[in-house]
Amino acid sequence: MSVKKFKFATACVLAAAMSLCSAKAAETPENFEGSVICAYHRVPHFKNVVSIADATPEAIKAVNWIADKIGITKDFRIHRAKFSSSPIAFAALRDGERFIVYDEDFFVSHNNKTPWHDIGIFAHEVGHHIQGHTAQSNLENWPQEIAADRFAGFAVSRLGGSLENALAMSRSLSEKPSDTHPSRAIRKKAIEEGWRHGEAMKKREVSACGNGWQGKEIDIDGSMCRIARQCVDGKPLSRIACRDFEGAWKWMGK
Ligand SMILES: [Zn+2]
Repeated sequence: MSVKKFKFATACVLAAAMSLCSAKAAETPENFEGSVICAYHRVPHFKNVVSIADATPEAIKAVNWIADKIGITKDFRIHRAKFSSSPIAFAALRDGERFIVYDEDFFVSHNNKTPWHDIGIFAHEVGHHIQGHTAQSNLENWPQEIAADRFAGFAVSRLGGSLENALAMSRSLSEKPSDTHPSRAIRKKAIEEGWRHGEAMKKREVSACGNGWQGKEIDIDGSMCRIARQCVDGKPLSRIACRDFEGAWKWMGK
């Protein structure tokens, strides 16, 4: 299936004071176009968008948490929307900006808590962005959806979630395959693969994590210094230690 193109004109006309359309002049309803890669489990029908607004603090926090844990820039523009026919969520790139739009009726984040189901879906959309799907056209959708599902599973692992947590998102997946999305069973397998990949990576990090000296002493501005390896919060860290004038080791910098 080729990438779907959409126009946001209807959505923007219908919704008054929508930040997505009013944030700057370039976002007039007439020129809002983008490549929609992901309707989470259905093809999006943007003519059915009833309203669109800024995301809730919980949603922003969840996406930023994902970005932080996988080490990418927190540069997503997140919006909630109401759809008469919901796609649940989608990712789109427009004018170089990364959009994530989700169905506000479907997400249940509240009281500063975001369930793993919602985290998984956000991670899936982030996955479309960082794997470049939103910048491409004319690609098959199934491989992209599977790649985004794998990423979502991987992200949940990085966030400290269990396999059950990673699979929480699957309850929203269609059991039957469509032209654009694989069946729930295939997608659950992809989520699990991604989660297991994340767990394997964690184990490698822990086994590579330890305390000790690395290499020989080096002369830094007349002081004898060495690189020290440390294990901080399960992650390896390298620091430089130098001897002071009494011969005691002191950390360089902070
Ligand atoms: Zn998707």
